[in-house]
Amino acid sequence: DKEMARYGREVLAKLLEHGHEAYWVGGCVRDELMGRPVHDMDITTSARPEEVESLFEKTVPTGIEHGTVTVLCHSYAYEVTTYRVEGAYEKHRRPLEVEFVSELKEDLRRRDFTINAMARAIDGSIMDPYDGQKDLGKGLIRCVGDARTRFQEDALRMVRCIRFASVFGFSIAYRTWRALLAERESIRFVAMERFRVELEKLMEGNKPSRGLGLLYRSKLPAHAKVPFEYEPDRRMIAHIDDIPPSEAVIRWALLLYACGLNAEESHDMLGNWTFPNRVRDQITSILDVGEAVAEMNAGMPYEQQWIKLVLRSGRDAALNWLRLSEFLKNGGTEPYPSEVLENGRAWTEEMEIYHLSELAIAGKDVLELSGRRGGPWVGGILNEMLIKVAARALPNDKKVLIDELKRVISTNE
Ligand code: ATP
Ligand code: MG
Repeated sequence: DKEMARYGREVLAKLLEHGHEAYWVGGCVRDELMGRPVHDMDITTSARPEEVESLFEKTVPTGIEHGTVTVLCHSYAYEVTTYRVEGAYEKHRRPLEVEFVSELKEDLRRRDFTINAMARAIDGSIMDPYDGQKDLGKGLIRCVGDARTRFQEDALRMVRCIRFASVFGFSIAYRTWRALLAERESIRFVAMERFRVELEKLMEGNKPSRGLGLLYRSKLPAHAKVPFEYEPDRRMIAHIDDIPPSEAVIRWALLLYACGLNAEESHDMLGNWTFPNRVRDQITSILDVGEAVAEMNAGMPYEQQWIKLVLRSGRDAALNWLRLSEFLKNGGTEPYPSEVLENGRAWTEEMEIYHLSELAIAGKDVLELSGRRGGPWVGGILNEMLIKVAARALPNDKKVLIDELKRVISTNE
């Protein structure tokens, strides 16, 4: 993003004008060297947080105790962090004390991996005291300094290690991997939310199968705060890279299915792993559809059963499940009716409406016509109408539906 770079440059220049040191640092330097899109730009500076706050009009003290101030500039946000070395660590996370030091190299030394420990000056020159560029060239994830110590300081780095290896398709340096295996049990000190955020990034990357394989070999999930005995079907996992990253919910559904979890178990698992409710429901509803299809009654028209299912689970879940089964091809274990697999998409797209809220009549129409008191029967009647309209047995026309309502009510009486 050119605009983001331009305004970011203004932020950097202002710090320099006022006599401070200031550099681009971390992910943005790495991504630019790799030719990958840069999504956020972080700055490291010798200026104290109070000085940063006084220099810029709009700032947010996002992590002031860690020396981080977010500078807002033309709707872009830049995280400006004062150089620091971290003191003792508490419970393998969170520094106890943070001392500010005017030393770029010290700041870089506290970063996790060599490829993340580079800074770029405003003139474009790269500060790279830990040979990050060399490791970028070799495609290696390597801890800055002694890997075991670094994982002891912050166990989340073990998951980040696997995440970066997966997203970039990099190898893990031998000592770093050995240290990860040796320290894996300390992953239980990491909040599930932080673990989950890294997993999401892994799953949204190019080749999640790689990271999932590394996770399996590392046994990190089994040692997490909420342990998960992770033993996926490898043949199914192999298909996960075929699903585009933009359809990450389908990737998640495949992963859970490959782990042998049903919709209910998946719902619990995703809850334990602190997934936001919306995403959690999106993922489990895909598995719900699969379970319902597996239980369809061969003696009844599949199209009817499918339409009811779409109305219950939602159009997106139904289409997502069809996508998932396309990717799994014969990799699934369930015997799904081929008629549904072949026609499900067309049946879905031919539906007139997908939700009660789209129906041309509502509960109050039913009540007015019947003159009876409300109750569950109203929903029952509306649902019958919904199914008929969705299946195009009736038009979604208020007049026609009212006539139909009159007929139904009079025959019920
Ligand atoms: P991306 O934002 O693309 O996921 P990133 O490298 O920018 O990758 P962030 O989590 O945004 O990752 O962190 C920014 C930088 O902060 C990293 O590049 C790294 O230098 C440093 N960093 C982040 N987390 C840690 C950690 N747990 N231990 C040490 N350094 C870290
Ligand atoms: Mg970042």
